[in-house]
Amino acid sequence: MMRGSAVPAALALWCLLCAGTGAAAPTPVPPAAASPCGEEAPAPFIGNKGSRKLHCADCIWGKKVSPGKRKEFRTYQEAVAEGYFPCSACRPDIAAGLPGPTRPPVAPGEIVGSTVKDFFHRGSCEWADKISAGHLLRFKTREEAIAAGKRPCSVCKP
Ligand SMILES: [Zn+2]
Ligand SMILES: [Zn+2]
Repeated sequence: MMRGSAVPAALALWCLLCAGTGAAAPTPVPPAAASPCGEEAPAPFIGNKGSRKLHCADCIWGKKVSPGKRKEFRTYQEAVAEGYFPCSACRPDIAAGLPGPTRPPVAPGEIVGSTVKDFFHRGSCEWADKISAGHLLRFKTREEAIAAGKRPCSVCKP
């Protein structure tokens, strides 16, 4: 039908070259993640059991987590449920497709602190409200907060 008229010379030449080198031959390449022995693909999230920080698997900080402190997670939610918070460098919360960190609900009587502040609060404190999901620390008792180096807030006096 189209023979001899519609194929531009350059394209025809390109096709000839490809055919000549074999570069255009579509050799099906299995995806790198597929493992032959049924081994699980690497977990997308790396948690640090010490700092409770959660990283993307490719985060430089995530890679530095020592094997003893390393915990792998399949999902971001799974890590959050265990009290991990997202690294502010690699933002695994965003990687997980979340619009931003969603702070888990804090009970009014709960003791909470921030990773970037020295104080701890009651969950009902206005300052507790201001702690972002990424910085939220939860303590079982005020003693635990003090042991973590935090001081009681002078507003809510936890
Ligand atoms: Zn990270
Ligand atoms: Zn407070």
